[in-house]
Amino acid sequence: TLTNENLMARRRAAVARGVGQAHEVFVARGSNAEVWDVEARRYVDFAGGIAVLNTGHCHPAVIAAVKEQLDLYTHTCFQVLAYEPYVELAERLNQLAPGHFEKKTLLLSSGAEAVENAVKIARAYTRRSAVIAFTGGYHGRTMMTLGLTGKVQPYKTGFGPFPGEVFHAEFPNELHGVSVDAAMHSLALILKNDVEVERVAAFIVEPVQGEGGFYVAPREFIERLRALADQHGILLIADEVQTGAGRTGTWFASEQWGVAPDLITTAKSLAGGFPISAVVGRAEVMDAPGPGGLGGTYAGSPIGCAAALAVLKVFEEEQLLARSQAVGEFLGAKLRDMATRVPNIGDVRGLGAMVAIELFETRNGQADLHRPAAELTRRAVAEACRRGLILLSCGNYGNVIRILVPLTASDALLQEGLLLLEASLQAALG
Ligand code: PMP
Repeated sequence: TLTNENLMARRRAAVARGVGQAHEVFVARGSNAEVWDVEARRYVDFAGGIAVLNTGHCHPAVIAAVKEQLDLYTHTCFQVLAYEPYVELAERLNQLAPGHFEKKTLLLSSGAEAVENAVKIARAYTRRSAVIAFTGGYHGRTMMTLGLTGKVQPYKTGFGPFPGEVFHAEFPNELHGVSVDAAMHSLALILKNDVEVERVAAFIVEPVQGEGGFYVAPREFIERLRALADQHGILLIADEVQTGAGRTGTWFASEQWGVAPDLITTAKSLAGGFPISAVVGRAEVMDAPGPGGLGGTYAGSPIGCAAALAVLKVFEEEQLLARSQAVGEFLGAKLRDMATRVPNIGDVRGLGAMVAIELFETRNGQADLHRPAAELTRRAVAEACRRGLILLSCGNYGNVIRILVPLTASDALLQEGLLLLEASLQAALG
C-alpha cells in the first residue's frame, strides 16, 4: 500500500531535488476545497494548487466539459487545424479585459510562457528592448521570466546569466518602508543611470504581488506608472497570473485600477486545474508580431479551452465574483479578529479573496514590524498540515501566510480552516 513516507522515499530517489515540496503529502483525491491523501487523511485546502483552483478541485461542470472535449479531439495544434473553443475563449477574454479599446488574445500553456510572450509582443510593437520589473515580483522560471523575477533565493540561484535589458525598480511597500514616491524615485534612477527611456519597451507589474507576499500595488502608483508609460511610449503589462480569474473580486484585478494595462497575462485558475494561459491586450499591440511569430505545439490546447470556458460559465452561474468579495470580507474580518489574540500577526491584507497575514516577532506584546518571523511561519505551516490544513507561505521575508482557498468553499469550511490556522499558530508559538 502507498504511504506518504514510502512515496517520499521514492520521490527523493527519482525526482530532481530542485522541485520544491511544501508538504510531505501525496494526494489521492480532491473535491472542491478538500483533499484526501494516500493514507485517507482529509485536509482543508487553503492553497488551491497555488491559486489554480478558484472553482475548487474537480468542479463537476469543468470535469464534464473536459470529458465532452476528450471524446471529440484532444489535440490538433491550433496552428495546424484550428478549433472553435480557442476562438471563443479569446472572444470572452477580450470582452473581460479592462480598457475601452479593441483587444486580441494569444493562448499558451503556462504563466511563464504568457509572460515570455507578453515581452516578445511588447518588443515587437515598440521596437524597443528594455523591460522594467519590480523588486519582489515573481514572473516564472524560464530564463526571461527569471530575469524579470525580483528575488534571487531560491529562484535564480545558479541559473544565470539571464537575458539582458531587464531592470528592477522598487515595488512600493508602506509596511516595509517603501513609499510610492520612493518607488517612483527608484524608477527615475534606472532611467538616469541604466537605460534611456526611449529604449524601454514595457513596465511589468503584478496588481497584487503573489509570491512576493500579497502586497497590493497602490492605485496611485499604478496611475503614475501609466502616466510615465504614456509620456514615453512605454507599454504597461499587468501580470495577472496569480491575481486573475476572479481571485480579487473582479475577473481581472486591473479592472479595479483607474487605468487600463496594454497587456495582461493570465493563467492558473483560468481553466480550473487544467494548463492554459493567455496574453490579452490592445489589438494593435497584439498584432505586432508577424504571422508565425507566436504559438506553440500545445498552446491553447482544446482541453484547456474547454475547461476555461466551463470555468467562465461557473463564475456566472454561481456568481463567484460576488463570492470572491464575500470570501475576502469574511476572511479579512476573522483574521483581524485572530490578530487580537495572536499579536504576531502584524498585518492582515489583500484584495478580494486574495488574503494574507504577515507574521512578526513580538515586542512588549505587539508585532515588531522590523523583525519578520520566517521560522514561526514555517512552523505554523507545518503544524497546520499535521492538523489537516494545507497552507502556503510566501513573501520576500518568508513570513506571510497566504490564503487561496476555492471561492466555491462553504463558509463552514472557511471557518474550519481558520480554526485550524489559529490552533496551528498557537501551537507553533507554544
Ligand atoms: N506570474 C505570476 C504573477 C505568478 O504568480 C506565477 C506563478 N506563481 C507565474 C507568473 C508563473 O506561472 P507558471 O508557474 O504557470 O509558469
